[in-house]
Amino acid sequence: MDDSLREIAGKTAHDPHRNSSKRCVWVPSPIIIGAGPSGLAAAACLKQKGIPSLILERSNCIASLWQQKTYDRLKLHLPKQFCELPLMSFPPNFPIYPTKQQFVKYLQDYADRFEISPVFNRRVASAEFDENCRVVGGGDGENAEEVVPAIEGMEEFEGRVVHTSGYKSGEVYEGKKVVVVVGCGNSGMEVCLDLCNHNATPSLVVRDAVHILPREMLGRSTFGLSMWLLKWLPIRLVDRFLLLVSRFMLGDTGRFGLVWPQLGPLELKNLSGKTPVLDIGTLDKIKSGDIKIRPGIRRIRHKSIEFTDGTIENFDAIILATGYKSNVPSWLKESKMFSEKDGLPKRPFPNGWKGECGLYAVGFTKRGLIGTSIDAKNIADDIERCWRIHVEAKHLSSISWPISLEKSI
Ligand SMILES: Cc1cc2nc3c(=O)[nH]c(=O)nc-3n(C[C@H](O)[C@H](O)[C@H](O)COP(=O)(O)OP(=O)(O)OC[C@H]3O[C@@H](n4cnc5c(N)ncnc54)[C@H](O)[C@@H]3O)c2cc1C
Repeated sequence: MDDSLREIAGKTAHDPHRNSSKRCVWVPSPIIIGAGPSGLAAAACLKQKGIPSLILERSNCIASLWQQKTYDRLKLHLPKQFCELPLMSFPPNFPIYPTKQQFVKYLQDYADRFEISPVFNRRVASAEFDENCRVVGGGDGENAEEVVPAIEGMEEFEGRVVHTSGYKSGEVYEGKKVVVVVGCGNSGMEVCLDLCNHNATPSLVVRDAVHILPREMLGRSTFGLSMWLLKWLPIRLVDRFLLLVSRFMLGDTGRFGLVWPQLGPLELKNLSGKTPVLDIGTLDKIKSGDIKIRPGIRRIRHKSIEFTDGTIENFDAIILATGYKSNVPSWLKESKMFSEKDGLPKRPFPNGWKGECGLYAVGFTKRGLIGTSIDAKNIADDIERCWRIHVEAKHLSSISWPISLEKSI
């Protein structure tokens, strides 16, 4: 970051309308909220165009989701070529599926290369439009807050209840008789596998229909193969192909309580954002009975869980693999661009990145890091156009946004 910006970010402007415990800061550049992969990508694309930016990050490091809220054995779910940020590839010696440590190293190198120095411990508590303002980057991530479902009786449960963001390894569950994992996405499935490998006995709660595909098929990554096929074939045909090969490779998952949704995996992803699970060995453990599949939860009691099929069983711990949600509606005072309901842009991909008056969204596409890259490039191009006009008109000082900051705890 430009030193002058850091200086400005550190200054407190007097604003009589604001609570005195908060600071009002004027920044003459795009402001990016969040130093995750999306924020870094946006900053790098701007930097490449000679445009400085200021990243505000509520935690004390870059990529806090990856550094602080993910389990030890996590690797990228998709092959590395689909997870690169713009302008810098992964090192060639990285494996196809880099570990989380490698991914974090890549992001740190990325920040160094583009001289990105976020201001840490700065949570954006509220942001609102000023009609005179022009440019603002917004990218706090669709994974900003943990989703914790309201299940009757959860507060009564005597065992440990933890979200996957707080789960590191199955080590602490070693010897625990039974652990229930709620949610059958990629994380829930992998946590079950990890628990099995640590001699715990997991049950997986699968409430809805789900697509489980092998991570690789026909010698290629399923994701890569799908992208390639989509260039030539309509989505429904590609879906049919994926399901046919999956059925051949994995068998009928419905026999184990993992029923396919009505729509195919890619069509469903496009319409609802629901990601198919890419199996990395969990299904074998389900087939062998090491992991039991359970239906939805009706009620939790002190030591036991009652499922929707009427069965009741004792459990030592509950792990919530129930995902994340955007926190934008909690701080952005705006209702045109973002939906109040899910905190995502109202306009669907690929058009959700641009709002009005210089408001942008990076990485709210439900398409992982590919979506992030597309957004970051679009935004930098758009901001460059505005930036040049303003710089030429010497109106730099009006390119600003009042943001109320609180030091994160
Ligand atoms: C377990 C897991 C595995 C994944 N694997 C892949 C994969 O293999 N490939 C892929 O393409 N995608 C993957 N994804 C999806 C996605 O790419 C990642 O979630 C990625 O981290 C998203 O980057 P982001 O910067 O948009 O959001 P985040 O990584 O969530 O970063 C947002 C940042 O904003 C900060 N922030 C939030 N609110 C505020 C605020 N009010 N003020 C200041 N700062 C704030 C947060 O602290 C955070 O650091 C995975 C997701 C998860 C959860």
